[in-house]
Amino acid sequence: ITVKFLHDMERPVLPGVKNIIAVASGKGGVGKSTVAVNTAVALAQQGFKVGLIDADIFGPSIPKMFGAEGARPTGEKIDGRDMIHPVEKYGVKFLSIGFFVDTDSAVIWRGPMASNALKQLMMDAHWGELDYLLIDLPPGTSDIHLTLVQTVPVTGAIIVTTPQDVALADVVRGASMFQSKSIDVPVLGLVENMAWFTPAELPENKYYIFGQDGGKKLAEKLGLKLLGQIPIVQSIREGGDEGNPSATHPDSVTGMAFDDVAKSLV
Ligand code: ADP
Repeated sequence: ITVKFLHDMERPVLPGVKNIIAVASGKGGVGKSTVAVNTAVALAQQGFKVGLIDADIFGPSIPKMFGAEGARPTGEKIDGRDMIHPVEKYGVKFLSIGFFVDTDSAVIWRGPMASNALKQLMMDAHWGELDYLLIDLPPGTSDIHLTLVQTVPVTGAIIVTTPQDVALADVVRGASMFQSKSIDVPVLGLVENMAWFTPAELPENKYYIFGQDGGKKLAEKLGLKLLGQIPIVQSIREGGDEGNPSATHPDSVTGMAFDDVAKSLV
């Protein structure tokens, strides 16, 4: 594949954005969106200017995780161009493809349509000055990944996985895609999600439901940084469902775990 960079052409791409970080996973359901949302909120709480794009075209979940399903971004003409104003909550500016399509009607997006949608979310939105723009990608490897790296200069990628073997095999594929010659995006590290479970009544015990240290060991094997191990916690799931991300409580154990992931990026 030959990658042609749009940002070498007419105008500088997202000049106000310092770092663009892709959040990827080998497969679905490993907590990629949960990690993206909580890392974004944690970075904002550390004082950074943060944006987040939900590019998971096939299952956009960010609006729900922010409790902003009903929100609609506003538009404005700036310098003769129609621009979208991102929605803002918990100090994070965000946009989702879910704002623009009826996600209940099982729309099957063809590759080019999905790619154009992502380009618009990046290029036609008024992001302003940002320290970090996180992009929540669809699981696996897709056209969307290519569109992303061809449209904007991506600083690096975070890969989210569970400790489970099948998830790990997919991680190797995902990491090699980013590290391939034509894409050449540094992998900043792995986040091992659902690393263990600790029941409230047995606070000393850790149960390794999906296996122990799978992500940690894989990071060592691939020479990647382990950005964090996040346990399975009911409040993480509830916070996601209720639009109140765990990272909004930075003094809680789960909040601290996401805070550490955010710190490892700085
Ligand atoms: P993905 O983006 O990889 O498809 P999600 O972030 O949507 O995955 O997470 C899938 C489900 O698992 C969601 O219901 C989410 O709330 C839950 N979940 C993710 N991480 C955790 C965790 N560490 N503890 C408890 N539930 C989690």
